[in-house]
Amino acid sequence: MVIVVVMTQEAEKTDQRDVVIIGSGPAGYTAALYLARAGYQPVVLAGALTPGGQLVNTTEVENYPGFPDGILGPDLMDKMHDQAEKFGAQIEYDDVVSVDFQADDGLKHVTTDSGTTYSARAVVVTTGAQYKKLGVPGEVEYSGRGVSYCATCDGFFFKGKPIVVIGGGDSAMEEADFLAGYGSSVTLIHRRNEFRASTIMADRVLSNDNINVIYDSIVTAVHGDDKGAQSVDLTNVVSGETSSLQASGVFVAIGSTPETAFLNGSLETDEDGYITVEHDCTRTSIPGVFAAGDVVDKVYRQAVSAAGMGCRAALDAQSYLSSISQHDSVTV
Ligand code: NAP
Repeated sequence: MVIVVVMTQEAEKTDQRDVVIIGSGPAGYTAALYLARAGYQPVVLAGALTPGGQLVNTTEVENYPGFPDGILGPDLMDKMHDQAEKFGAQIEYDDVVSVDFQADDGLKHVTTDSGTTYSARAVVVTTGAQYKKLGVPGEVEYSGRGVSYCATCDGFFFKGKPIVVIGGGDSAMEEADFLAGYGSSVTLIHRRNEFRASTIMADRVLSNDNINVIYDSIVTAVHGDDKGAQSVDLTNVVSGETSSLQASGVFVAIGSTPETAFLNGSLETDEDGYITVEHDCTRTSIPGVFAAGDVVDKVYRQAVSAAGMGCRAALDAQSYLSSISQHDSVTV
């Protein structure tokens, strides 16, 4: 069901339908594909500036099944977009600015930057997370040409080359451990002399002969040439001493920020701000609101795991929509 009401005086629109999907990464487009094929005519609020999520900023993707020769990140997202649209998903390039998931009419209301309020019986949130950036010279310039935020995605490209990993949390430990199987050497650089990571993951790094740890130090610049990154500048924050270190791969693992500001606290999150879902499904703290992908998952963070979770969210939403239709518990 799709009803569009135009409120002429303030040029605001209200759009009412079964399900709204917020976000357009692999989780969002997969949820859209499944819900569209099931006949729910979902609208995908894809974002105004960066539809397609983080994969739009990557180059070659070699670990998405079905593409034995690899595929460019933006091309993969275009294919996901086209596939969802082909089956009836409506994609809108608009940013969500606020939500009301507990309105008296039993519907979920989602308002966008352009002034449209979408009212739906179910909502799937798939807004992802942004890797935190170092903010140093050369980071943006060599992003995708040496600077990376995902070892599983890019480690392979640095086989036999010197690699640095920056960070002191579980992500940095996991990345360093993984990259030790590829790099000629891996140097982990942490800004303090104590890791934030769990003991078991830190121990794994400390006992790995191919990983050298530099404590109390920050990377202040990434340098390179037309082949990509070649070295990083370091400053010891205790002694003030500066140095340079050879690095073809520069893996930044200093945490990520889930995109949940627009929710304004209306869904339960964990201490890091990731939306919490019920064990083994995608149900959030509000019935009829589902969440999938990197906005939930701070461990796997892969395109294929996000897509898989988007599928699960769509199936959970379908099951919710059919149950409320049967029990007629929501007036639409
Ligand atoms: P995190 O725990 O927030 O750690 C971020 C690390 O980066 C910290 O050591 C921090 O230093 C450092 N850092 C932050 N900003 C920096 C900057 N500007 N320059 C240099 N260093 C900076 O993030 P995370 O490691 O991504 O982990 C996030 C959550 O996911 C955690 O709860 C973690 O346990 C979980 N996780 C779990 C697994 C797993 O179980 N397999 C894997 C990955 C992540 P300080 O310590 O000085 O603050």
